[in-house]
Amino acid sequence: MKKMALVLCNDMHMDLENANLLLTRVQQSKWYEVVCDYTIADIVVVFTCAFGPSKMDSVRVIADVRRNCKPEAKVFVTGCLAKLCTSELKAIPGISVQDFSYLLNSFEFVPTETLSIPYQNKVIISEGCLHHCSYCVYPMIANGYKSKPIEMILQEIQTLYDTESTIYLTGAQETADYGIDLYGKRSFGDLLQRITQQFPDCYYVIGWFHPAGLTEEVISVIAEHPNIIEIMLHIQHVDDEILKNMNRPSFQEMQEKIGMLQRVRPDLKISTEAIVGFPGETEEKFDSLVEYLRKGIFSNIGVASFEMVKGTKAAMMPNQVPEEVKERRMREIEKCFGATCYPASKDGSESLLEEYARTSSILSKMPKNILVDRQKYHLIAGVDTKEKLEGFSLVLEDVLDSIRNARTEFDWARSQKHLCETYTLEARTFFYDLIQHGDFKIAFKERARQLLGVPQ
Ligand code: SF4
Repeated sequence: MKKMALVLCNDMHMDLENANLLLTRVQQSKWYEVVCDYTIADIVVVFTCAFGPSKMDSVRVIADVRRNCKPEAKVFVTGCLAKLCTSELKAIPGISVQDFSYLLNSFEFVPTETLSIPYQNKVIISEGCLHHCSYCVYPMIANGYKSKPIEMILQEIQTLYDTESTIYLTGAQETADYGIDLYGKRSFGDLLQRITQQFPDCYYVIGWFHPAGLTEEVISVIAEHPNIIEIMLHIQHVDDEILKNMNRPSFQEMQEKIGMLQRVRPDLKISTEAIVGFPGETEEKFDSLVEYLRKGIFSNIGVASFEMVKGTKAAMMPNQVPEEVKERRMREIEKCFGATCYPASKDGSESLLEEYARTSSILSKMPKNILVDRQKYHLIAGVDTKEKLEGFSLVLEDVLDSIRNARTEFDWARSQKHLCETYTLEARTFFYDLIQHGDFKIAFKERARQLLGVPQ
């Protein structure tokens, strides 16, 4: 039986649904076994993301997978970035870039009707987006809007209901248009009503809700159910000229809807995101955004600095804001409101291949598998790769500290235990090689060899 690992490039839910679908099929197949660790897999499927900095993170993950997987393993790359930058990715050696449906059909599976394995408290109710925000890459890759039937969503919630106290309801890209394709109208209100009636003893968070879909019907369901505790409603800006250029609803429309929500449910958490540095954003327009955020309406704020994503309308607009101004504005919102920052990818216009080469070169100078107790790669490999790239000097510092500080018998035993339990033999040998060739006294080198447990 062949071993297969699925790797998600970030912990967002863009490809979670597809990963789940593949995972379920694979688990029921007699040909493949799912493993968490891609270093032992015969087949690795990487789900890439094209959103902001995740684009380059995805490339780094591909480099990481290529460096650490078995030499004979087959590496398939799919997902948003594979759709958007097919030809660039195809130039990376040793990977096969595939459309997801093609990939799914190309494996021999035992047919099954089961659609998802809920391995977290997230229920994805739809896929795609019908909006065309001028700065966003999704309209270029999304293929319309596809909702799950209400009954299927209720079944998924049933499987989570006994174990989860809070369930996060979201679309893969956008939630508010739920049902348009299946029921001929926005039906999120109906869905929410059914869910809260059938599963009342649970808290609900509504994710990624476009303000246009916040209808009176949805607001009245939220009003009746205090266990709906949070909604993520992204305002993006408050200036009408900017909102128009973003192709988003007007400020007045958003303000009225937010006001209605607050009146019926003053306790409801409303979280939001804003973009600073959109083309044409003057200091005055930025100040008006800050002033609105100061009203204390939002429980959580995320702030992104505008990124010129190739192929989007906004990237072609005049009056682009200088990078340093975007950065300053983003940091100001971070400082004032404790906002989570999403900096524009500085390398947005750089080549994916250059990033791949740079990452591969850094990774090649590291031990292959640093830690003994390794991350579950099929969930958040992107985070792990980032940590590897950014944190390697800290890891080495940890090793050196252990060696420097081991003086008594007790320290000696404790340090050796720590090093052997934390790092693989391959990593320890690598550290020892670094120490061996570094500017350390002979006695230190010998102590390092013993503590790291490296054979002579
Ligand atoms: S609603 Fe969200 S996913 Fe859809 S185009 Fe706008 S930003 Fe992109």
